[in-house]
Amino acid sequence: MENKHRTQSAHTNVPQPIRSDGAGATDLGPRDIMRDIENVNMFVPPVTDAGLIPNMRFSFSDTHMQLNHGGWSREITVRELPIATTLAGVNMRLTPGGVRELHWHQQAEWAYMLYGRARITSVDQQGRNFIADVGQGDLWYFPAGIPHSIQGLEDGCEFLLVFDDGHFSDLSTLSISDWFAHTPKEVLSANFGVPESAFSCIPSKQVYIYQDIVPGSLESQEIQSPYGTIPLSFKHQLLAQTPIRTPGGSVRIVDSTNFPISKTIAAALVEIEPGAMRELHWHPNNDEWQYYLAGQGRMTVFGGSGAARTFDYRAGDVGYVPFAYGHYIQNTGNQTLWFLEMFKSDRFQDVSLNQWMALTPRELVRDNLNVGPELLEALRKQKWPVVKYTDSP
Ligand code: MN
Ligand code: MN
Repeated sequence: MENKHRTQSAHTNVPQPIRSDGAGATDLGPRDIMRDIENVNMFVPPVTDAGLIPNMRFSFSDTHMQLNHGGWSREITVRELPIATTLAGVNMRLTPGGVRELHWHQQAEWAYMLYGRARITSVDQQGRNFIADVGQGDLWYFPAGIPHSIQGLEDGCEFLLVFDDGHFSDLSTLSISDWFAHTPKEVLSANFGVPESAFSCIPSKQVYIYQDIVPGSLESQEIQSPYGTIPLSFKHQLLAQTPIRTPGGSVRIVDSTNFPISKTIAAALVEIEPGAMRELHWHPNNDEWQYYLAGQGRMTVFGGSGAARTFDYRAGDVGYVPFAYGHYIQNTGNQTLWFLEMFKSDRFQDVSLNQWMALTPRELVRDNLNVGPELLEALRKQKWPVVKYTDSP
C-alpha cells in the first residue's frame, strides 16, 4: 500500500502524452522519463505538427566517444543524422600538450573554439606556412586538401569542427602516421635520403590523437618559409566581432565577406535571451546545420505539403533544416540560448517572413491570410536588421 502511494506521488511530475484538449492517453511504460521530460515537444507535439518530417536533431551525448591519450573526439555525420548531407560535425577535446596529428582531408574544415587554447599549423600548396594560437570564440578554416595539426596549450581545449560534407568522418582522414606506416621503408629511405633505420620506430598505424608536452611560445616554434606566410588568414576572431544587437538577442555573422578564406562555410553565432525568439525565416542558399552551445530552445521545421515537426534542443545538440524549409527558434529556458547556424555556402543569407509580408501590397497579405488591420499595422512598424528577432510575450 505504502509502496503504491510512493509510486503515485513520484509520478506527479512525470509528463504524459496527453494534449491540453484531451487527445492522447497515459504512457504505461516501459519509458525513458528523463528523455520525455527533455523532449516535451516531441512527446506532446503542438497540434500544428503534422506529416512525415524526418529527424532533425542528434545529441553529441548519443555518439561514440573516441578516447585517446591526449584527448577525445565524437562526431555527428550522415550515419547519425541521415538528413544532414551538407555538413558533418566533430566535437574534440585536447589535453594540455595533446595533439590532433598532422593530417589532411578532401573536405574543408571550419572550427569554433569552445574552451581553452590551441596552436594550429598548416602549409599551403605554394609552401607558405601558417602557425597561430587560437582561443575561446576564435575560428579557423583549412581549405580542402590543405595539411594541418592542432595542439592543446596550457589548459587544453575543446572545440567544434565542421566539414563541408555530411559523409565526412574525422576517423578516416589522410594522416601522416598512416601514410608512413603504409609506405615501403626503402621508399621512405629514398624519399628523405636517410637510412631505413631512421624509420625503425615509426607508428604501425594511424596515431590520430597523442599526448605530447605543451609547446613553447609561438616565437620559439616559428619556421620562416622562403615563400612567406599564407595570404588569407586561416584564423578569425568571431566572438571579438561587434555583434548586431536586436531586441531579444544578438548575432555575429562570419562568411567569405569578413573571413575571406572561408569559401565553403558561412555561419552565424546567435544569442537569444529568455522569452525571445529567432523569428520565422528560411535560407535561400542551402541547408542549415546547427550546434547548440548553451541554454535550451525549440524549433518547428515547416516542409510544405502540410508537414511540420517540432524539436527540443539543448547544449550539445545538433539541429538541421533542409534548404528553404521555414523555421524559428524560441528560447524555452530561463538562461540565454546560444547556438551556431552554419551553411555550406560562401555567404550567410536568410529571408524574413515579416520582411517579405511587410514589403508586399497590404491587400494581398490581408486577403491571402484573412487577417485584420492589427497585423498589417504591426508589419508597417517592422525594422529589419540583417537577422531579426521578435520579443515574444
Ligand atoms: Mn582536420
Ligand atoms: Mn535559420
